[in-house]
Amino acid sequence: MPPKKKDDGANAPPPLIGRIGTNLKIGIVGLPNVGKSTFFNVLTKSQANAENFPFCTIDPNESRVPVPDERYNFLCEHYQPASKVPAFLNVVDIAGLVKGAHEGKGLGNAFLSNIKACDAIFHVVRAFSDEEVIHVEGDVDPSRDLQIIHDELRLKDLEAVNKQLEPLERTVGRGSDKGKKPEYECLKKVHECLNSGKWVRNLHFDAKEIDILNQHLFITAKPVIYLVNMSEKDYIRKKNKWLPKIKEWVDSNEAGATVILFSAAFELNLLDLQTEEEKQAYIKEKGAPSALEKIVVTGYKALGLIYFFTGGKDEVKCWTIQKGTKAPQAAGRIHTDMEKGFIMAEVMAYNDFHEAGSDAACKAAGKYKQKGREYVVEDGDIIFYKFNAGAGLTGKKK
Ligand code: GDP
Repeated sequence: MPPKKKDDGANAPPPLIGRIGTNLKIGIVGLPNVGKSTFFNVLTKSQANAENFPFCTIDPNESRVPVPDERYNFLCEHYQPASKVPAFLNVVDIAGLVKGAHEGKGLGNAFLSNIKACDAIFHVVRAFSDEEVIHVEGDVDPSRDLQIIHDELRLKDLEAVNKQLEPLERTVGRGSDKGKKPEYECLKKVHECLNSGKWVRNLHFDAKEIDILNQHLFITAKPVIYLVNMSEKDYIRKKNKWLPKIKEWVDSNEAGATVILFSAAFELNLLDLQTEEEKQAYIKEKGAPSALEKIVVTGYKALGLIYFFTGGKDEVKCWTIQKGTKAPQAAGRIHTDMEKGFIMAEVMAYNDFHEAGSDAACKAAGKYKQKGREYVVEDGDIIFYKFNAGAGLTGKKK
């Protein structure tokens, strides 16, 4: 969770910990044989096939998955556009980490650098027993497994911060190079946190410290969503003998973290069914829905991303931006000229549009608003930009 802002300017959005940009990724992390690849495959295939999107596979271990959204569906239904472009979540399947990975065990360093390149984590934990599927630690024990991954990532960060602190100890620590003092203090705080068994994300940082943190991108500063992989039977009856222990672990290590229950086996069975009718019949028969939509939406939000829509007969499109982006910079996602020549954003909140039923009705109801440069774009805004296309021409573009 991003820290609360303390003493920023009144309207400044809270600073985000992490990389700046819209091409952010979420990595699937966990011990070997917990169901990561199965999850990655069902995620990629079910969503991609359902919508028939090309170019979803970026490489065998990386994929972009459309973000399901009723609002987007409604807009496509309304405008009947020639082209439809949803928002996408970039997902990376990272090979399993083992105990000792931070010291390089089991190709640890390669995997850890893959995690470093991601901006949030799906932490998959195994809560199904299956004698045919070997557990790297000998038996199934999700809270122990959670702790192993938690510690491996923490120890890797500890190693990194130690390296960064070393030269600073020699200068700032001994009274020279005062300019680096804030960085030194911030990294000392990080060191203390990691050394006491906590993750960087569990600590509060002010805006200045976040600037410093964002130069280092610690693994344990990334948001995590816990995905508990259960047998189909347990998933359907919403009971599992390890759940109380998992809850206990999360409450004491990551209070408030998002935990989503799913079953890779159940999702795989759904995927095998050919038609939408068969899938719906299976869901009805079992009395449990697929968890994939919830997982994708939650993952996208964890990255601090939102999107606004442009809508018309030509195209309905979701434009991904970071939370807190102002109207001109959001326009820049569509075209840099629109940012440079920004005049105004004409904005309808999705709910207003949905209620009114059309652009014209929204206008008539006074819900079609003209917003200036300082407007912070909200998730689900439908925006029509007016911009100066240069050389005295005034252009309009959707
Ligand atoms: P990874 O190493 O974490 O990527 O794990 P995989 O996705 O390759 O899964 C390892 C093995 O566990 C495979 O044989 C899967 O078929 C099996 N598996 C994955 N999820 C489940 C599950 O929910 N139930 C059962 N019984 N087996 C599963």
